[in-house]
Amino acid sequence: MKSSRELGSYFPSWILADTFDRTLDYSFPDGGSVFNEEQERFLRSYAEEERNNKIKECQNIKQVHGNEIVLIKKDVFKSELVKKNISQDRLKAADGIITDFVDLPILIRTADCVPVFLFDEKFKVVGLVHAGWRSTHLGIVKKAVVLTCDEYSSEPDNIRIVFGPAIRSCCYEVGLEFKERFDNSVFERDGRYWFDLVKENIHQLEGLFPQGKNLFDCGICTCCDERYFSYRREGALAGRNLSIMMIKGE
Ligand SMILES: [Zn+2]
Repeated sequence: MKSSRELGSYFPSWILADTFDRTLDYSFPDGGSVFNEEQERFLRSYAEEERNNKIKECQNIKQVHGNEIVLIKKDVFKSELVKKNISQDRLKAADGIITDFVDLPILIRTADCVPVFLFDEKFKVVGLVHAGWRSTHLGIVKKAVVLTCDEYSSEPDNIRIVFGPAIRSCCYEVGLEFKERFDNSVFERDGRYWFDLVKENIHQLEGLFPQGKNLFDCGICTCCDERYFSYRREGALAGRNLSIMMIKGE
């Protein structure tokens, strides 16, 4: 089991952030949304290896292609954590997680949708967003940035965003209705329509990050690059690529 390690250069040393390749399948064939014991044990040991510290929990969400975001603030949750296990929230239906908690791995799963990594350099906050076309249409990444700014007195200047492995316009053929939904990011090639999911997200962030400042794209296409699971290439039974993010602290 290994991560691509291709994303490491985008992040400062206080962050653990990665998208795993297909040697690690994080799909839940039974339709569940909770990691099984073996998966959770692996994730904790992976994070502990990086951190050299005991990891108690992983934060998972039930992804529903919406625009809900789970916020886990340490000043709110610190006492709560003692009273009730934080994992009770793991079933929450959402497509994004934001936290300033140290040593709490946050996780999302994708197979062509884009994993969006967000972090605030100044206030040490991290966020992970699962952005398929539906969540993108609902503006989930911009919502995550605004939420981070509101909750942590941050501003876009301190925030950096990295777009991980996702299906690209080389492979993402769509119908004419996408042209109406995403006029800036659908183009014609050989009489067919192709959607650029990352470009659409960058377009939506233009007002907060003029000229794409602080936005970084790894450029990997999950449909072209067979190291990754791809719904478009492999169909409904495709596995899921796991993305992880964690604040390593001091
Ligand atoms: Zn491609």
